[in-house]
This record gives sequence, C-alpha cells and structure tokens, in this order.
Amino acid sequence: MRISADAVVVGAGVIGASIALELAKQHLDVVVVDKAGGAGQGSTSASSAIIRFNYSRWDSVAASWEAKHCWENWADHLGGDDEAGLATFHRTGMVMLDVPVAPTDRLIGLFERAGIPFERWDAAALQARVPSIDAGQYWPPKAIDDEAFFEDAAESLGGVFMPEAGFVDDPQLAAQNLASAAERAGASLFYNRQVTEVLRQDGRVSGVVLSDGSEIAAPVVVNAAGPWSGKLNEMAGVGADFSVSVRPMRQEVHYVPAPPGYNENGRLGPSVADLDLGTYIRAAPGGMYVGGTEPACDPLEWIEDPDQCDPRPRVRQFEAQVMRAARRFPTLAVPNSPKGIAGVYDVTEDWTPIYDRTELDGFYVAIGTSGNQFKNAPVVGRMMAALIDRVEGGHDHDGDPVHIVGEHTGLEIGLGTFSRKRALNADSSGTVMG
Ligand SMILES: Cc1cc2nc3c(=O)[nH]c(=O)nc-3n(C[C@H](O)[C@H](O)[C@H](O)COP(=O)(O)OP(=O)(O)OC[C@H]3O[C@@H](n4cnc5c(N)ncnc54)[C@H](O)[C@@H]3O)c2cc1C
Repeated sequence: MRISADAVVVGAGVIGASIALELAKQHLDVVVVDKAGGAGQGSTSASSAIIRFNYSRWDSVAASWEAKHCWENWADHLGGDDEAGLATFHRTGMVMLDVPVAPTDRLIGLFERAGIPFERWDAAALQARVPSIDAGQYWPPKAIDDEAFFEDAAESLGGVFMPEAGFVDDPQLAAQNLASAAERAGASLFYNRQVTEVLRQDGRVSGVVLSDGSEIAAPVVVNAAGPWSGKLNEMAGVGADFSVSVRPMRQEVHYVPAPPGYNENGRLGPSVADLDLGTYIRAAPGGMYVGGTEPACDPLEWIEDPDQCDPRPRVRQFEAQVMRAARRFPTLAVPNSPKGIAGVYDVTEDWTPIYDRTELDGFYVAIGTSGNQFKNAPVVGRMMAALIDRVEGGHDHDGDPVHIVGEHTGLEIGLGTFSRKRALNADSSGTVMG
C-alpha cells in the first residue's frame, strides 16, 4: 500500500495526538502512526499527570498556565464530547516545598509575571494546611540506608502553594480524547504499525515506511515517539546539529494508602513537590501516588530499549520513595509489598523538552519531554502546528524563533527555549521539575 498525506505524526501519545489535532485543524491531511494498539499506551499511560506551573524558565511556566485552561475546558479544547468519556481535571492544589535548587524568589517572580495565583506558606501554614505533614528541612536527600536519613531536622521549611494545580484522570484517556478529536477533524489513525524507515528525497524528508511494508509519502514528518524518539532520529539521520540529546530513563511511581486526614471528606489532598527529601506525592482514590525527583544519592536507571522496561515495581525503589514520603507524612503506613508501576521518561540533559525543526527539512521533533510534559500537551500541539506552518512557509526559526500567544491567557510563549541548539538551561533543577 502506498498513500500520501500532508503530514505524518509518529506516536499517538498525549504529545503526538495533540499535534495531530492541531495540524488537522489547519486542514492538513494528517496520518498518525503508532506501533501500539491505541492512543496513549506508551509513557503517557504511566504518567502521574500532575498539572502544576513551577518550572525554571518563563516559556515553560507560561505554557503550563495556558495548558491548565485547556484541561479545565477539555470538551471545548477537543471541539466536542467523546463517547469514550472525557479525561477530568481535578483541582487539588500543589505545594512546592522550599529547596535551594529551585529558588523560591525566582518562582514567585515568574508566577507574578504570568498572573498565576500562589500563596507563600511558612512552616506553620504548611502544617495547618496539609494534614499530617511534617515541616522539617532534611536537605540534601539521603539514601535510606544512610544513618543520616533518620536524623531529626534542625530547621523547618515552607513552600509555595499553587491553588490552581491538580491532576488529570486519566492520562491515557486524555490521549485517546485528543486522538479521537484529531480523527473527527480529519486525521487518519494507523495503530499496530511501526515506522521502520524515514524516507528522504532531494535533501528533505519524503515520508515513512511501516512495518507492514506500506509507505506513506509526506513532506512533513513529526517525531513524537516519546522514549523511542532517539531511535526515530537515528532512522532520519538527524542530530548532528543538536546541542541537547535524549535518553530513556526508567521511573517508578508507587501507590500507598493515604495517611489519616490527607484525603478528607471526599476532598483530595494537595500534591506535594518535595525535592528536599527527593520525592513527590499526588492524591489517588483512597490513597496517594509517590514518585521520585532524582535525588543525587540514588542511581539513575538509564535504559537502552524502552520495550525492555520491566513495568513492575521493585522493592528497593519502593522502599526508597515510600520511606521518604513517610518522613514527610510520619503517619503514613509503609506497606509490606510494593504496589505501583514503572514508566519511561525521554530525558534531556537539562530536563527541558525539544520542540523544534531539525537539519532535515520537513522533519520535526517533539521529544525529550523529561517526565514533565503531560500537562503541557494541549499547548505543545499548538506550538508544533505554528512552528510547522511558519517553517514550511519559509520562516528561519533557528535565527528568529517562532512564538505563540496563549488563547486563554494572552501570554507569549517562545519556542527558542525548546530549541535543539539551545545552550543548556542553567536554571534547571536538574530533576523532573525542569
Ligand atoms: C512515571 C511517569 C510519571 C509522569 N508524571 C508526569 C506528571 O505528573 N506531569 C506531567 O506533566 N508529566 C508527567 N510525565 C511525563 C509525561 O507523561 C510525558 O512527558 C508524556 O506522556 C510523553 O508523551 P509522548 O506522547 O511524548 O510519549 P508516549 O506516550 O511514550 O508516546 C509515544 C508513542 O510513540 C509510539 N512509537 C514510538 N516509536 C514508534 C515507531 N517507530 N513507530 C510507531 N510508533 C512509535 C509509542 O508506541 C508511543 O505510543 C510522567 C511520565 C512518566 C513515565
């Protein structure tokens, strides 16, 4: 089979599906290809799907604030309902605990500029507002077999509370909603087919070959392959002019029963970003999810092949993450056996994604989402559609980076921050927080 399209999007995760929707809205003939059996079955399915606004750079902060409005008005964003049901945004608030690698003054400055509501909490406010929390400062994070891990805190800490933060339930359904909306807007979805070759002609991309031998001819191909993105770049022969690279990393998220008072009277407790101890928590029905923030004392688990990632939680990681959560919530009972999942991040050196063109004309990348871009997906679709439109129209994005203006917030979001050729983001926390 040989078909033609205006654009091929490789990957129907939350990022690829969002890009497909926005390209289809521009009346392009779009084909989405995914090797899985449906949308959102890659790293998106393992996402904690936390919606928060704390990043180290303006453009990421502005994108996350704009995207929050899309999640809140999800049916409008999609242009209609979905018979599969709609993913839901739960506003729980989130507190970012004070930590040296993410200076509070800078964060507050960015929030004030963007108009994002926040409250500055001292230790007393933290303890009054988050039931069962301990406000000790333990920095830097320590391995749980380090005796210092159990030392009492000498100081206390506060944090910055974002009342508008929350999470989306569930992330896979969100990707399916975007894919269905893209289909309604005219996109074709090809599942259970893998892109095995990227074609070039006369110095630009000319299409892709699929695992069933069929060929899709297209002048535009978008790499939205999540943790497999490095492999796709290799197929396309791009990367020589990248100053930032991507690498897959295995990450676990665990489930524990919530400590008393955390989820109270049908109200879900706030998320807590706790780089002080090296963890984050998020409310879940009857309990909470506990994730990690790559503390320097723990080895990072880089992997070669995302397909070989063992999805089962391991005792060592479970104990490390949950013990840290139990320091923060001393009444949290640590279960005997691990419960949770492992997913894969597509990580860049500065934990900031790459949304860009490449040296191969027509080949674009929305990659390196570094465990922190689920929340931005609705805006990433718009950014990539604007980028592709401008660059295919002859614009020099490398010299004069494209920007978009948020439809809900009016904020300007520059794509230069996400350039493949950027100087590494020196303000990055060096963790999933970006
Ligand atoms: C454990 C975990 C927790 C996270 N928590 C948060 C959070 O709280 N908040 C937040 O904002 N973000 C979070 N993230 C990050 C967020 O989930 C990701 O940034 C986002 O889901 C990435 O989406 P994607 O579409 O790029 O990738 P994916 O969902 O992985 O989609 C890529 C798709 O490409 C397909 N594919 C790959 N190669 C090929 C090929 N050659 N041919 C055809 N198809 C191909 C795959 O099958 C896959 O479906 C988390 C991620 C993980 C893993």
